[in-house]
Amino acid sequence: MQHKNFKNIDKVTYGRGSFSQLAETIEPVRALNKSYFVYIVDNYFKGKSLESKLQNKPEDLIYFIDVDPKEPTTEQIDTLRDEILNSKGLPSGVIGIGGGSIMDIAKALSLMLTNEGSSTLYQGLNLIKKPGVYHLGVPTISGTGAEVSMTAVLTGPEKKLGLKCDWTVFNQVILDPELIATVPKDWWFYTGMDTYIHCIESHYGIKNNAFSLAYGNQALQLCREVYLGQGAGQNNENDDKLMVASLMGGLSLTYSEVGVCHALSYGLSKILGTRHCLANCIIFQHLGDIYPVGHGEFMQMIRQHQIILPQNLSKGWDEDTITKMAQVSINLPFMWHHAFGDNYKEIATLEYIKDLFRRL
Ligand code: NAD
Ligand code: ZN
Repeated sequence: MQHKNFKNIDKVTYGRGSFSQLAETIEPVRALNKSYFVYIVDNYFKGKSLESKLQNKPEDLIYFIDVDPKEPTTEQIDTLRDEILNSKGLPSGVIGIGGGSIMDIAKALSLMLTNEGSSTLYQGLNLIKKPGVYHLGVPTISGTGAEVSMTAVLTGPEKKLGLKCDWTVFNQVILDPELIATVPKDWWFYTGMDTYIHCIESHYGIKNNAFSLAYGNQALQLCREVYLGQGAGQNNENDDKLMVASLMGGLSLTYSEVGVCHALSYGLSKILGTRHCLANCIIFQHLGDIYPVGHGEFMQMIRQHQIILPQNLSKGWDEDTITKMAQVSINLPFMWHHAFGDNYKEIATLEYIKDLFRRL
């Protein structure tokens, strides 16, 4: 058996207002390369108060990126990389301020600034040849665990797959719960449920272990406090918890694996463009037989927060669409293996996976 050996984030700052320490945090790195930083900021913050708190210097480049039209693409990263290198040369580092999409753009950009050719060449495990530049993540929406993971998920012409290696992991993360206060309620729910589903899937599979369970159980407990019962809802105390849950949920799946929901979610996102966290929620509501424990609680949280998820989607899908989605999903064997054990190939056949999509 191959035991996992992962790199963690080098340094983490946590606490309300900690974003104000950004400038001093990056100061020691400023002298590197061409002595300037690239800021990648979610376009949501353009014109908001955070824009005046970026602590940037005149030489820095700031990109406000709209993540809503689509999830990060290989082409987007390549274009950005070329533009930056052509205009100012190699930066000291990259700072990502935003949700999972921005975390992934910052991580991928950091790597592609030093690795030649298209990012499509590096989609997969350990394909990156050189370490990237210093990169720092400031999450502004919590749940995906992208702030801690060793992958930068990109959609390319052929696959939706991450640039995955030790160098992908952030050098520094600043967790400031004040930054997630403005997240709209539906996104607060979908992204938080991504954490919840990470923990359930990590738990209910053959690769779980005391290490992944310790993180997963703690993150699940925090999710329950945030989303279930009397104290549930979007408020400061819960935002403090959700930020930590997201990170711990990410660590839980890193040391175990995700399962059926994520395998299907990748198919749905790749073929129909559904956003990761929403896709997971659309799918998880139909997986009561596979994840009975988590499913009951999940449905309770949906009711408590009056979340309305899309229904009967598959009615509008033809056979070809369902087959394409199932093909993306079946190509994630490590997830099916984790969920169903060594004879997973006998259970998770293409037909079985197509039937799961027909539930949606
Ligand atoms: P996101 O980054 O796509 O943002 C969702 C929405 O929230 C956007 O409209 C954004 O503008 C808005 N937003 C962000 N912060 C806000 C704030 N503080 N106030 C108001 N609005 C805010 O959301 P996400 O769900 O965190 O990320 C999804 C992406 O993460 C997908 O591209 C997915 O592939 C990726 N992902 C990566 C990993 C990984 O390990 N690298 C894991 C899971 C998902
Ligand atoms: Zn996820």
